Amino acid sequence: MKSYEQLFIDGRWVAPVNKGTFETVDPSTEQVIAKVASATAEDVDLAVKAARKAFDEGPWPRMSGAERGVVLRRIGNGIRDRIQELAEIEVRDNGKPLPEALWDLGDAAGCFEFYAGLAEKLDENAETPVTLSDDRFSSVARKEPVGVAGAIIPWNFPMLMAAWKVAPALAAGCTMILKPSEMTSLTALELGSIAAEADLPPGVLNILTGPGSDVGAPMSEHQGIDKLAFTGSMPTGSRIMQAAARDIKNISLELGGKSPFIVFDDSDIDAAVEWIMFGIFWNQGEVCSATSRVLVQRGIYDRLLQRLKEETRKIKIGNGLEDGVLLGPIVSKGQYEKVLAAVARGEEDGARLVTGGDRPARLDKGYFMEPVVFADVPEESWVWNEEIFGPVVCIRPFDEENEAVRSANNSRFGLAAAVMSRDNERCERVARALRAGIVWINCSQPTFTEAPWGGYKQSGIGRELGVWGLNNYLETKQITRYDGDKPWGWYIK
Ligand code: NAD
Repeated sequence: MKSYEQLFIDGRWVAPVNKGTFETVDPSTEQVIAKVASATAEDVDLAVKAARKAFDEGPWPRMSGAERGVVLRRIGNGIRDRIQELAEIEVRDNGKPLPEALWDLGDAAGCFEFYAGLAEKLDENAETPVTLSDDRFSSVARKEPVGVAGAIIPWNFPMLMAAWKVAPALAAGCTMILKPSEMTSLTALELGSIAAEADLPPGVLNILTGPGSDVGAPMSEHQGIDKLAFTGSMPTGSRIMQAAARDIKNISLELGGKSPFIVFDDSDIDAAVEWIMFGIFWNQGEVCSATSRVLVQRGIYDRLLQRLKEETRKIKIGNGLEDGVLLGPIVSKGQYEKVLAAVARGEEDGARLVTGGDRPARLDKGYFMEPVVFADVPEESWVWNEEIFGPVVCIRPFDEENEAVRSANNSRFGLAAAVMSRDNERCERVARALRAGIVWINCSQPTFTEAPWGGYKQSGIGRELGVWGLNNYLETKQITRYDGDKPWGWYIK
C-alpha cells in the first residue's frame, strides 16, 4: 500500500510536527496495512490557522454558491472515478464487504453532488425578506457560513461520514478541519488528494489523522474553530460538548442508539426477517441506527425466530474482498472483544442464545464472529438497553400495540426506530408515537441524502443531510433598515 504518513494542511502534504506515525491493521488478516501520520495539538494549530486564513481572507466564502458547486461536483466525480480502488481501501481498513463499501462510496459521491445543488440554490435563497410589524423598517434574514468548522468522525462508514460533514460545510462556504477515526484513516486522506485535484483552494479542507486524545480533544478546545460537528459515541460526544461549552462553540452531535423495530403479527414473515437482518447485520451491525432491539408480536414470535435462525446461519462470513461475503470482521481487536463480552453478558443476564457468537470454523485469523440472535431478552438487561455496535440482535415478544410502543420508547436513546405491519393506519400511528429522529415503515436502514438524519434524547443534537445538514453550517443574520420619512425623535425632539 502507498504511504499515508503525511497530513493535508493548507493544500499541501506535510509530515506531522513531531514526525509521529501509527500502524493501521486489516481486521480480516490482523496484518498492518499502512503507517499513518499521527498529528498532535501543534498540527491542529497549524490546520486551524490555515482554515482561519482561508475563511477570513481566501476566495472560498466569497465565491458564489454556483462556483463552489462546480468544485463540489468535481470532488464527487473524483470519488466516482476511483470508486473501485477507494472501496477496496475501505474494505482493508474497516473490514466491510466490498459491495457495501461500493454502496458507501457511491453515496459519498452522491452527497457531494447533492450539496453542489444546494450551494447553487444558496445564491438565490441566501436572503429572505422578513415582514415586520412596523412598516417604517424593512428587514432580510441572510444565510452566511458559520466560519471554521471541525469535523470528528467514527470508523463505521469512513468516507461516507466524511462526506456527510465536508460536503454541506463546503457548500455553505465554511472551511474545515476533518479528523477521521484512528481506526480508519485511509480514505479520508485519499479525500485530500481528490479535493486538491478538484482545485479546492488551499486551507479550505485540512485533514488530520491521529488518536482522539491527540487531535480530537485539542480541536474541541481550539478557540479558532467556530463549529464542531461530531459523530461517534455518547461519552465522547459529552466530552466534546463540555469542551465546546468553554467558548460556546456551535455544535452538532450524532451519537449512538439502541433502535427498536416493532413487528406486528400480520407481517409477512420473510419480509420481516429480511429487514430485521438488514437492520442489524449490514456493516456487521456497526451502524449507529441499527435496529438492535426487536419487538415481535406473540402470534408470529416462534415462527419468525425459526426463520431468522435459518437465514442468519446462511450468511457467508469472511474477508470483505471475497465473493459472496455478507458479513466481514469486526473493525478492531478492541471492538471485537467488547462485542464478545456483550454476548457473554447477555447469556448471564438470561437472554436465550438462538444462534451465533462463535468464531466461524473456517477462519482462524481476523476479528470474525457468527452473528448473534438473542430471544426472550429481559427488558432490564444490559444487552437490551446498551449499544453493542456489532452483529447482535435482541428480541422480545409483545401482545398489545401500546405495550410495544412503551417498550420501544423506554430508552435513553432516540436515533431511529422501525415498524412493520400490513395495516397502514397502524404503521402511521405507531410511527408518530415513537420518540426517535428517524422512523422506517416496513423497512429498516435505507438512508437518503435528501432527508433529515439525527437523534432525539441522548442520540444527539441537530440534524445532518438534506437542507437541515446545510443549515448546520450556516448562521442567520438579520439586516434591518430604517426607512421612516420622519426622524426617530426619541431623544432629539
Ligand atoms: P468514538 O466516540 O470512540 O470516536 C469517534 C471519534 O471521536 C474518533 O475520531 C475518535 O478519535 C474521536 N475522539 C475520541 N476521543 C475524543 C476526545 N476526547 N475528544 C475529541 N475526539 C475524540 O466512537 P467510535 O468508536 O469511533 O464510533 C462508534 C460510535 O459512534 C457508536 O457509539 C455509534 O453509535 C456512533 N455513531 C453514530 C452515528 C450517528 O449518525 N448518530 C454514526 C456512526 C457512529
